Amino acid sequence: MADYKVPFNLPTMTGSELAYIQRSLANGHVSGDGTFTKQCHAFLEELLGVPRVLLTTSCTHALEMAALLLDLQPGDEVIVPSFTFVSTVNAFALRGATPIFADVRPDTLNLDESKLESLITSRTRAIVPVHYAGVACEMDDILAIAKRYNIHVIEDNAHGLFGKYKGRWLGTLGSLATQSFHETKNITCGEGGALLINDAWFTERAEILREKGTNRSRFFRGQVDKYTWVDIGSSYLPSDMLAAFLLAQLERWTEIQEVRARIWRRYDQALADWADEHRVQRPTIPVHVEQAYHMYYILLPSLEVRTRLIAFLKARGIQSVFHYLPLHLSDMGKRYGGQVGQAPVTESVSDRLLRLPFYNSMTEAEQQAVIEGLYAFTDWT
Ligand SMILES: *Cc1c(COP(=O)(O)O)cnc(C)c1O
Repeated sequence: MADYKVPFNLPTMTGSELAYIQRSLANGHVSGDGTFTKQCHAFLEELLGVPRVLLTTSCTHALEMAALLLDLQPGDEVIVPSFTFVSTVNAFALRGATPIFADVRPDTLNLDESKLESLITSRTRAIVPVHYAGVACEMDDILAIAKRYNIHVIEDNAHGLFGKYKGRWLGTLGSLATQSFHETKNITCGEGGALLINDAWFTERAEILREKGTNRSRFFRGQVDKYTWVDIGSSYLPSDMLAAFLLAQLERWTEIQEVRARIWRRYDQALADWADEHRVQRPTIPVHVEQAYHMYYILLPSLEVRTRLIAFLKARGIQSVFHYLPLHLSDMGKRYGGQVGQAPVTESVSDRLLRLPFYNSMTEAEQQAVIEGLYAFTDWT
């Protein structure tokens, strides 16, 4: 990224991270579930109103925990959008489940709830909506369908922390939800994640899975007098040093989100007329949604225009990037029967979507350079 005058992403920093990490070192407890981890849990539980939050080493690992909690068997089916990050799907494939790829809506690029019911079979065990760019999926419809067929909803909320759907926080709507604190996300500790447990039925087993299949958490609460191996599991606890890093950001979440909102709105206003003139589609934010300001993207008229625009911006020192390739057409997706034409919206937007530089330390001059770069592009045909 060093060769770019305006990089695509830089991690958010509040300035208190190092002081908090030093405190975790001084505490003498740097492994998992120390005081900083507990503070992060309490912070998210109180703010979002989630009964139990568990920090994990990544969103990928939180998704793996969700898949373990569902006790999936080979042949079970999990409905996922084709337009998402590989971890959304891989976590379930790891358990032997079959991903069923759904298409997305052409406006929000979220799981198309109108096509959902036709994908449900007697083997469907879960639906995994992804709130793309931090804009909520149509959760009332998705939850109603899930309820009718007795299927769990797992929100992949990697983009959506602090976003809302009809006044309700994203991540609180499914039985389980997963967060990412990777450096490309709004709130970061480098690598990290969280499992949000809304259905308390999962809580005790989630603690066991996260602690190598032992009842260590119950032991520390004095509920059992020794801890032992009670179930399958793995090691999903982040170091308390990373939780310290994370707390330094969570405590400043409103400022972080305000900065992102300002950058997002500036792009959207500056590009409104330009987009209309060149048949470029700007993001759609439904009126009942409060978005999480995770990214700013545009949809260009064609793959050829996008390829030329990326090169044009690069020559001006600006890094712009495309996003997900359709998972149903990946090598793995084809092994699950993925075919061209199966998810036409995903196939089309994947070719045409371009993400613009977006990071909290972005200066007005940097953003102006991106906007002027777009205005200066003429190679539309
Ligand atoms: C970033 C991301 C993930 C994975 O997050 P990690 O914390 O890097 O494992 C999963 N799903 C989506 C939609 C993401 O954007």
